Amino acid sequence: MNDTTLRPTPADTERHFSVAAAAAGAAPESAVAVPCPEVEPLDGILPDEPLLMMGAGPVPIPAAVAKANSVVINHLGDTMARVIHQVKAMARYVFQTRSNWVLGVAGPGSAAMEMAVSNLAWPGTRVLSIVNGFFSHRMAEMARRVGADVETLAVPDREIASLEAVAEAIARTRPAIVTIVHGETSNTVWNRQLREIVQIAKAAGALVVVDAVCTLSTMPLDMDAWGIDVVITGGQKGLSSIPGVSLIAFSDAAWARVRERTAPNTHWCLDATLAENFWHKAGYHYTAPVSGVLALHEALRLVCMETLEKRFARHQRCSLALQSGVAALGLALYTPEDCRLNSVVGIGLPEEMTPRAVCDHISQQYQVEIAGSFGLPIVRIGQMGEQCREHNLFRTVHALGRTIRDLGGKVDLPAGVAALEESLSAAVRETRRA
Ligand SMILES: *Cc1c(COP(=O)(O)O)cnc(C)c1O
Repeated sequence: MNDTTLRPTPADTERHFSVAAAAAGAAPESAVAVPCPEVEPLDGILPDEPLLMMGAGPVPIPAAVAKANSVVINHLGDTMARVIHQVKAMARYVFQTRSNWVLGVAGPGSAAMEMAVSNLAWPGTRVLSIVNGFFSHRMAEMARRVGADVETLAVPDREIASLEAVAEAIARTRPAIVTIVHGETSNTVWNRQLREIVQIAKAAGALVVVDAVCTLSTMPLDMDAWGIDVVITGGQKGLSSIPGVSLIAFSDAAWARVRERTAPNTHWCLDATLAENFWHKAGYHYTAPVSGVLALHEALRLVCMETLEKRFARHQRCSLALQSGVAALGLALYTPEDCRLNSVVGIGLPEEMTPRAVCDHISQQYQVEIAGSFGLPIVRIGQMGEQCREHNLFRTVHALGRTIRDLGGKVDLPAGVAALEESLSAAVRETRRA
């Protein structure tokens, strides 16, 4: 679009003026009170070469997802109904659930978290939130906002909750709802005893809500087999779709609680019983983000084509190779191995080097985006979806090593790249042998 198409023609201006001037007696130049701003076209803002998105999300999207995201169809009707039917069927596979109660959410992962919390909790509901960091804290905050009676079990940084501590907290607080994160993206901790924690909570009669935003489809999580009541995820992390359309699955027990609640729901867009109208009855709730739903359809279809088993293996192989490359550079991995998350890798920096300086430099000089972390002294590299491709790993380890060196730090760059290569080749040899 060229500039002239944006400007009113003289005839338009005159017409406007005659109405506005009659009303206000204004001069032609001020026919509109707020003047048109001067803006640059997007080409002037976006980088010439796309950045490689290796941060904690959003992550690169496959071509099929990008293509679907450019299509707009009617949000109601047969075509959309078929798309929704398939999205739910594929989501059940990815969540590993036979539950009927799978819904999409227009909004970020946080909106799906809020749908879970606000439909299951209301004033006086006892909620226990197991807090490992920034994101698991968010669920406690959401529960407080709906008036729930929230207790938190604060887990020290870089540790996981012990089963004894969880059992003690549950016995003490007798919660109706327990919230927990599968992988805490902020400090890169993996709650590897999730299954056992769910068992303890279920035995005490609580419903368990699991935030799997960064982990779903990157590592095993079996909603039904593990007895989880609600799993939520976003689009732009493990699933490698666009941000803005998320997924949630409720167990039968959780759905019964949603259905039977008598306390009014203060949310309208996030009311699961209203959302059911669109996601299960092909009716209208609000206009669904059709393009984003189509993109999510393609992202899920690619997961199905790859299969969960192979996808988990790819994520593990790539993340472990990245970790060995980073360690061989001479940088410290932030989280101890026994609770280290593979989906997002936390990396310590040489003293006096700030995450901000590293992120800015690697982006500007090497066109690779990585992330800091809410005040922690680390940078984070994502290993979700399309981030887990070998060529992306080489480029990222190289760019990180060069960046640290450019900023005056010491790294062994050849050793880092060699360790990455060795780890990847060893994994290939192992699969051949198997
Ligand atoms: C990113 C993330 C969220 C929040 O997702 P948004 O899409 O930013 O709202 C919540 N939980 C975890 C574990 C995450 O990684």
